[in-house]
Order: sequence, then structure tokens, then C-alpha cells
Amino acid sequence: MKLSDSSYVKQLKIIQHLNEGGKMKNKHFINGQWLASANNDTFAVINPATEQVISHVPAGNKDDINKAVMAARQAFDCGPWPKMSGTERSAYLKKIAKIINRRLDEITEIEVLDNGKPHPEAKWDIEDTAGTFEFYANLACELDEQPEQSIALSEPGFSSKAVKEPIGVAGAIIPWNFPLLMAAWKVAPALAAGCTMVLKPSEVTPLSALLLAEVIEEAGLPEGVINIVTGLGASAGQALAEHPDVDKLAFTGSVPTGSKIMSMAANDVKNVSLELGGKSPLVVFEDTDIDKAVEWIMFGIFWNQGQVCSATSRVLVAESIYPALLSRLVEEAKKITIGAGDINGVLLGPLVNATQFVKVKAAIDKAVSDGATLVTGGERPKNFDKGYFLQPTILTDMTEDSFIWQEEIFGPVVCVKPFSTEEQAIEMANNSRFGLAAAVMSKDLTRCDRVAKAFRAGIVWVNCSQPTFVEAPWGGYKQSGIGRELGQWGLNNYLETKQITRYDSEEAWGWYIK
Ligand code: NAD
Repeated sequence: MKLSDSSYVKQLKIIQHLNEGGKMKNKHFINGQWLASANNDTFAVINPATEQVISHVPAGNKDDINKAVMAARQAFDCGPWPKMSGTERSAYLKKIAKIINRRLDEITEIEVLDNGKPHPEAKWDIEDTAGTFEFYANLACELDEQPEQSIALSEPGFSSKAVKEPIGVAGAIIPWNFPLLMAAWKVAPALAAGCTMVLKPSEVTPLSALLLAEVIEEAGLPEGVINIVTGLGASAGQALAEHPDVDKLAFTGSVPTGSKIMSMAANDVKNVSLELGGKSPLVVFEDTDIDKAVEWIMFGIFWNQGQVCSATSRVLVAESIYPALLSRLVEEAKKITIGAGDINGVLLGPLVNATQFVKVKAAIDKAVSDGATLVTGGERPKNFDKGYFLQPTILTDMTEDSFIWQEEIFGPVVCVKPFSTEEQAIEMANNSRFGLAAAVMSKDLTRCDRVAKAFRAGIVWVNCSQPTFVEAPWGGYKQSGIGRELGQWGLNNYLETKQITRYDSEEAWGWYIK
């Protein structure tokens, strides 16, 4: 496996920026300044395609988080940010989007090196990141258009209105699968709302968040509005979640960590929103074009190496087309080009790190020992002696209560099962502790609508799977989370609603003083 010469040169430049020339070297971004970690500890960042260390970043601890929260608190309580009009804040968001677009290539390269995803997918993420800032820039302006909502009261003599206000200091803790995009889903609406924030990126992929700090610095945001601290979950993450001066916690990650975050938030009753895992079904009815179904299944499960919260990990196929669809899916899965994300034409990169590789491989092995059939994949591809590469994997014949059918694997692993009736398909699809996404494919749109309404999931795709739009709400039912991101819903995550009620009569109220 060899990188092309131009990719190699680009990588060298980026690594140099990170390790030598860049002012971000070993620094957090706190109160508008680049600060070393309180204890000078760092951790290594590894390219999952080569297993090489590409950088070191600070391992933030309680003291670093404390500094960052204090900066955000000061910026919220005494700074200009929450008092600015939405239109003024919008100008900063637009600037951020513009700088990201200008640095698109470089940020894309970093994301590929850090996360391993194929270059076109990384580019798409960074374009979406800029798009998210643009979208919330527009919503920030809309806040000025509707600053208050008058409320009709049943009691005469009173008038009332509801106003929206920023919630305060937000703490954002994010995962590694879409590093910069997941940051944008939180930073952009928080900024639009007038909140200040401390962001802790995943320790697995911290680099693009540090580039975001550079972008924020260039955009000239007031000091302390956005603070970025790199570090491990159990130290920096926990310190942020437990900090008494944080008003709101916005978390994206696994269910076990989400549950811990919720307990920590409960200690001082913080507002919390959680975007957690999934085990999303796709139901394919017999009238579906098999090629179209195979295309969406593959996009649903092999995009980003299956490391997608909404990944199409359970496929339910009408039994009349099950054999034909399965054989077509296997044929196409075997053709997928595997390799480092910066090689042209690669569709499947490495898993994000050694831990994830071991976890996914163990899940496949367990599925087989539990009785499932490994139809294709399940191994590190031949000719790859380095990198966390895993073949596209298709499993069948598992039981409905098996680990592989019920648990989130977070890798390029799809389980396929036949069904006989619509009722059975819905029951099987809903038989999960997760409820993030679900999809249905059929030419009969009435049936699609019926099934879409019957799914117990926050996101439903009809005749497709995965397309995600910044305008539409994103979030899960059941253990897949609490609250919604994106669209107007994402902005509401960072807004409080206050009622202001006035007594308009000239006379005393007359309860005590008659
Ligand atoms: P994770 O839960 O291991 O880590 C997520 C973040 O939490 C990281 O920043 C980590 O450092 C931090 N963390 C870990 N322990 C912590 C603690 N005790 N206190 C505070 N913070 C802590 O998840 P991951 O492996 O990074 O990401 C994969 C998971 O994220 C999957 O389950 C996936 O489904 C989920 N996810 C969900 C969505 C969604 O929108 N619903 C989107 C992307 C990923």
C-alpha cells in the first residue's frame, strides 16, 4: 500500500504544521489564547491507516477545564456575546463558514489522517461543517425578527409574552466518527443562540477541533466565547460534565458514556441533550428494485466504515427477494476498494483505532460462535500488514436476541434477515433498545408512509438511507438519546424560554388588601 507522491508531500506539510510550525502545538484554546496543559501531559494521535504517531496534543485535566469554564462563564456573564443582536452574531458565524471553506483542503486532509475516512467523505464532512455555520448564521438573524411571542391569557387585566434567551455556558463532548461536523452541530447553534462554550473533542480524533480553534481565532470572536480543551473522557470529559458553572451539557457518543453524563448532570440539575448509539433497521419490500436497495444498504453500512450512529446495521428483506438481494449485496461488497483514505478511489478506509478494530473483530467472531453465518468479510484484508483495515462483512442466520443483531457494532458489519409480512417486519425493526433511525424501501408509498409511522425511531428514511440535512431534526427515541439537534430544534437546545407577565389594571389585585 503506497500513498501517491502528492498526498505524501501534503501530509508532510500538515504534520509539520501540527508538530513544529503550528502555534497549536501542545496547546488548548482557552480565553482566546493558546495555553499549555496545567500538568504538561500530552497524548499521541495516530493515523489509523499507518499506525504512525502523527502528533501529540495536550491531555487536559480538571485545572484546564476549570480555566476554560471560567473563561466561558466570564464571557457569558460580562462579555458582549450574549447581549449582541442575532444579526451581529450571525456575521461571526458567516466568517467562520468562510474561513472553513477557504481552508477546506487542509482541514479535509487532517480529518483523513486523524480518522482514516476516505478523502471524498472527509471533504463532504467539512463542506457540511461550513454549511452548518451558514445555516445557524441565518437562524441567528431570525432570532431578531421574532424576539418575543405574545401569549393570549384567559384572565383579563394581564398580558404576557415569552422571550427566548441563551441558556448560558454550554459544555460539548463529542465523538470521533465525524470529528469536525459533530463539533459544528453543537458550536454553531450555541453561538447563534448567544451561549458560550467549552468543547472537548474525542481523544481519538482531536486535531480538526484545534484547527477550528484557529478558525475561531481568525474570525475574531470575543475572548472566552469558544474554548477548546483536548483530553481523555475520564479526566477532561468528566471534569466538564461535573463542573458546577456549566449550565448545559450537549453530548454525542455511546450509550454507556451518555448514561454517565446524565448522572453527572443530575447532580446539579443541568440541562442535558444526548445523541447516542443506534442499531438501525432498513426494511426492503418485495417490489423494490434490487440494485437500488443494494446501493442504499451499502451506503448505509460501509460509508465511514460503518462507524455511523445511524448506520444501516440490520437489513430486513421480504423473503421472496431475499436470496437475490443477498447475492447481489455480497457481489458488490466484495468489489469495494479498501485502503488509506487519501488514495484515489478508496471507498473503505481503516477503522479509527486498534481498540475499535479489536472490538468489531471480536463481535464478528462472537456472532459466528453464536451461530450466525459469515457470508463474506470478517477479516483484515490480505496485503495489509499495517492499519486497522477490516473487510466489508455480511452476516445472516443470527437469532433476533443475539448480540450481533441487538448491539451497536460500529464497523462495516451488516446483519441481514428475511421477513414474511409487513407486521412482522415492523415488529422485528422495533425490537431494539435503540431508536435512532430506520428506513423502508417500497414502490408503494402508502405502505412506506404506514411503516414510517410505525417505526419507533427519531429519523426515518423512505427509499433511501442516511442522507442528512441541516434543516431537519436529528435525534433518537429510546436509548438513542434525549433531544434533537439540527434545524430549529438544534437552536432550541441552547435557548431558555422566559415568560414575562404584566398586571395592566390600575386597581390593586385585591386578595389581601380589599
Ligand atoms: P464515547 O462515548 O466513547 O466517547 C464520546 C466522548 O465522550 C469522547 O469525547 C470521550 O472522551 C467522552 N467521554 C468518555 N468517557 C467520559 C466520561 N466518563 N465523562 C465525560 N466524557 C467522557 O463514544 P465514541 O466511541 O467516541 O463514539 C461512538 C459512539 O457515538 C457510538 O455509540 C455512536 O453511535 C455515537 N454517536 C451518536 C451520534 C448521534 O447523533 N446519535 C453521532 C455520532 C456518534
